[in-house]
Amino acid sequence: MQHLFTVDLEDWYCTRAVESVIVRSDWRSCESRIRVGTLKLLDLLDKRGIEATFFVLGYVATRDPELVQEIDDRGHEIATHGYAHRSLEEMFPEEFRDDLRHSITIVQNITGKDVLGFRAPNFSLTKKTAPWALEILGEFHLRYDSSVFPSNTHPVHSFVEESPIIHQLSNGMIEVPISCVDLFRFRLPATGGAYFRHSPFWLSASLIEWCERHGTPALFFIHPWELDPEQPRLRLPLLQRVRQYRGIESLYEKLDRLTDRFQFTSIRRLLSENNQFVGTSTP
Ligand SMILES: [Zn+2]
Repeated sequence: MQHLFTVDLEDWYCTRAVESVIVRSDWRSCESRIRVGTLKLLDLLDKRGIEATFFVLGYVATRDPELVQEIDDRGHEIATHGYAHRSLEEMFPEEFRDDLRHSITIVQNITGKDVLGFRAPNFSLTKKTAPWALEILGEFHLRYDSSVFPSNTHPVHSFVEESPIIHQLSNGMIEVPISCVDLFRFRLPATGGAYFRHSPFWLSASLIEWCERHGTPALFFIHPWELDPEQPRLRLPLLQRVRQYRGIESLYEKLDRLTDRFQFTSIRRLLSENNQFVGTSTP
């Protein structure tokens, strides 16, 4: 089975874990280290012959357009992660519309290709934000969304009412949610990001195999800063320090094992091969 390999292309200073120390107006003065983790990832994906989906943050694309061009040139899908990494619940609908328009324009100007997919920062498409956010996503003719976190374990961004498998939304878009596994009363996130970093390899592998047995591809996600142990170490509160730094020294090795053991592809390719873009022109 082909699973989905996705990357949220954002730098070390853009994350929620560091926002108590670094605010958006500081971003410009932060060292850009986006190439460190991204080039490691691109080489690994080349080695394994994997086409991935990169959800590109518009701010990062503005700062390093050549990197986005290189990702596209190396055969990966370029989708959008918005412009300024603001969670949907922090924005009014018109602010989200402007942020999304800006981010799509930037990456389309770099690659010359249509953007098909969106991932909300911090998986912030929730029961509260979905009614207006999905309407706006539809205005931009996006084909799919990958922002739903259908787990009941997150204090803010759970959207447990949504299905944990790929499905069509009321606005015609396809939803590609974060993979979850049902265990007793819990619906646990299967893999990706901090969940992958903080779990032993055997657990992540078992959860992906659980998805395989249930006939659904697992969605894996990672950030370039998770592959950069030399990133600036900030004085963060304990929980944020764990979220940002724990496990990054050994992550590359785990990722090498994961991509050796399982097959992955991009969202664009998986949906295309399964005729999920029926009714629209095939990308
Ligand atoms: Zn993000």
